[in-house]
Amino acid sequence: MRTLDIASTIGPDLVALRRELHQVPELGLELPLTQRLVLDALVGLDLEVTLGKGLSSVVAVLRGRGGDRTGVDRPVVLLRGDMDALPVTEDLDLEHVSRHPGLMHACGHDLHVAGLVGAARILHDLRDELEGDVVFMFQPGEEGPGGAEPMIAEGLLDAAGRRVDAAYALHVFSSEHPLGQWFGRPGPLMAAADEVKVRVVGEGGHGSQPFRAKDPIPVACEIVVALQTLVTRQFDVFDPVVITVGKFVGGTKDNIIPDDAVFEATVRSLSPEARKAVSGKITLLAEQLAAAHGLTAEVEHLPGYPVTVNDEDEYAFAKDTIVDLFGADRYTHQRDPEMGAEDFSFVGELVPSAYVNLSACPVADHASAPDNHSPRADFDDSVVPDGAALLAELALRRTAQLSRRATTA
Ligand SMILES: [Zn+2]
Repeated sequence: MRTLDIASTIGPDLVALRRELHQVPELGLELPLTQRLVLDALVGLDLEVTLGKGLSSVVAVLRGRGGDRTGVDRPVVLLRGDMDALPVTEDLDLEHVSRHPGLMHACGHDLHVAGLVGAARILHDLRDELEGDVVFMFQPGEEGPGGAEPMIAEGLLDAAGRRVDAAYALHVFSSEHPLGQWFGRPGPLMAAADEVKVRVVGEGGHGSQPFRAKDPIPVACEIVVALQTLVTRQFDVFDPVVITVGKFVGGTKDNIIPDDAVFEATVRSLSPEARKAVSGKITLLAEQLAAAHGLTAEVEHLPGYPVTVNDEDEYAFAKDTIVDLFGADRYTHQRDPEMGAEDFSFVGELVPSAYVNLSACPVADHASAPDNHSPRADFDDSVVPDGAALLAELALRRTAQLSRRATTA
């Protein structure tokens, strides 16, 4: 396969780029050094590049020269790589170790950037047979506060002049699977992650005379416990919801009843239905439990990333492409979704998409290797050319399929 051949030829450049990126990790939506390195790496390619206004994103459009579809019929595929790092102090003994104190590419997004640059170079080489256009999405802020949504607001999905038909992304992992193994599943892949803040409002007083006050602490405790009952009694066990109260604050001293007590929870769900239902049920439960005790509760919902859902057809296509390129032994079906979250889900809500995982675990004992986000998470960048080849192959094949479909329609 020519994508693989080109990927192996440019492999050393991609690995060098990844190591350069690894030394300058940046956080959030403003990644000036990373953006500069991406732009430098794309120099010489015939691309239409747009920089983000409210964030340091890069959107590059490659016009294919193959096929005979024109105008609105011409297929467009989006490929995405996230670029941001984490507030983690790297604890690895590498030549290319982070030079930014307290920051580290601990989630492997440096490999994603190098892979996406690789895909652009491969597809540029093959543009005479590319039967549509490709939008390359270099995205900041995946680890928070979210870069996909503002990029969409700035016109990402119409960057080629018409709406994207399909979108693809990949993620590398530092543990759990042997090096080079691809894995994933159709349908829900990652959870929606929302936050809820609850303030139980009572009336403070002396700890010795609770009947003269309205004590918010036992009521808040009751709500916290009742939330777990809500999860198990009101939700289908096969469409799970997780509520974890990670913060609980109330009072100042043992003999003082405070005016209020506050707690915060993360709420994870795997379907839009469960996600919608859970927020309403939390509000009802908190307000009515507080009312039952003569107090009130204020409930604030802070929506986070939606569920990441792999479109059945796009996922089947991505999986078949993986098996074709790398062989059936390199693919593992992932039984369950993960309860982590990913903001590529905002793209997936609007465009049929597929998201696949790739192991970059550098050690044989993958079961006990440090996970992503650990200060010791290590990623073997020899998989970067494979990532580049897959993304390029997906774009080539999907634009060709869409082009044929348009012809027969
Ligand atoms: Zn990540």
